[in-house]
Amino acid sequence: MSWDYWRILTIVSLVGFVGLLFDQMILFMFFAALLYTFWLQKKWNQMWLWIQNPKKYEPPSAEGAIDDICRRIESVRQQNKSRKKRLSDYLKQFQAATAALPDAVVVLGPQGQVAWANTASKELLGIVWPRDSHVRVHNLIRDPVFQGLLASPKKKAKIVTSPLSSDLYLEMKIVNYMGDGRLLIARDMSQTVKLQNMRRDFVANVSHELRTPLTVLHGYLETFNQESPPEMWSAALPVMRQQTQRMNMLISDLLILSQLEMGEKALKHEPVDICALLTTIAEDARQLKEYQSHQIQLDFDSDKWLLSDAGELRSAISNLVFNAIKYTPEGSAITLRWVVTKKNACIEVNDNGLGIAEHHLDRLTERFYRVDSGRAQETGGTGLGLAIVKHILKRHDARLNISSELGVGSQFSCCFPATKVIKKSKTIKLS
Ligand code: ADP
Repeated sequence: MSWDYWRILTIVSLVGFVGLLFDQMILFMFFAALLYTFWLQKKWNQMWLWIQNPKKYEPPSAEGAIDDICRRIESVRQQNKSRKKRLSDYLKQFQAATAALPDAVVVLGPQGQVAWANTASKELLGIVWPRDSHVRVHNLIRDPVFQGLLASPKKKAKIVTSPLSSDLYLEMKIVNYMGDGRLLIARDMSQTVKLQNMRRDFVANVSHELRTPLTVLHGYLETFNQESPPEMWSAALPVMRQQTQRMNMLISDLLILSQLEMGEKALKHEPVDICALLTTIAEDARQLKEYQSHQIQLDFDSDKWLLSDAGELRSAISNLVFNAIKYTPEGSAITLRWVVTKKNACIEVNDNGLGIAEHHLDRLTERFYRVDSGRAQETGGTGLGLAIVKHILKRHDARLNISSELGVGSQFSCCFPATKVIKKSKTIKLS
């Protein structure tokens, strides 16, 4: 500032002195002051233009107040610039983080209109930002449970089906923030809901399976007392034994299934002679009480061995062969085949029994699923056999293919990857 005083004082004094020489001091001083005012005005104008558009105009160069103001403006501008950059970096980071979130996050305006949505909102809710900007969210998600949640956001999180698919279950929550700001958060809970349903069905199925034998036993125990005649006991005992055996089989099948699912037992990879294995299983099958003049044939296309867990494989194939005997009428033909191709190697169990209707095929490997539950109960099946087979094969990277035609017969084919097939091995014998 002092610069300006000294400058005007010096100019006016010098010009006044020159004016004194011409005896016109006041006039000279007046013109000097006038010119100085014009010059100052020009600098202020320059500064104004520069403030308006710093990219286009240069700041005025004038030592003193104008320079000080320009410098101050420039430093405030730099501070603002770096603050803006910091804020936009924060915003970018925030957007990148929310975009990476697996949960859908939608910022809602005061009237429930979409103000912003992250990427997951598209997959979970079908809300696309910026396409749905300013659209009211209750027009996008029409589920009544969600509408209720929107109306009273203090409610706990709710499970709502996604507008995109009825199989997609979302846990939705509305969170209030900064006064009237609202945040809709949706998390995919389909897997959890599926597991809960499975657990509920499982408990219901097991209870149902155990109820029949328990009711029979309970009925006998209620009727019997110490004075009951021996003939009553001898009639009841075989039935009681059969029912306890049934419960026992159910529990042991459940334990096998649970062990397989948990992967508690390590899987062996030993060379197994499939021809020998199928021959042994056929012999075992002939000992079954259901084996009524059935004909079991063996058809080996190859003498190759298979890298597998002999115990588990025997259990899986036995299940299929015993089913073929249990669920086909007397005299039916059952063929066990071992087919090796370049692509894969399959153990097939074929029968020419009654066959299974097509709509059952996809569900056969579900736990407790039975085609004819009356007949299955009669044969003492637990409904877990094919579920166990499926799990054993899964552990071996193999697949169970089922094809069947009513009145023609069924084929259960266990197909292993060709990489598991090896040449005949003399080192290990099947136990
Ligand atoms: P289960 O212990 O009742 O035999 P599975 O899981 O082994 O249970 O079999 C499921 C159902 O598949 C059986 O109840 C039966 O109805 C049907 N099934 C299995 N194998 C055959 C077959 N070879 N022929 C006809 N039906 C079969």
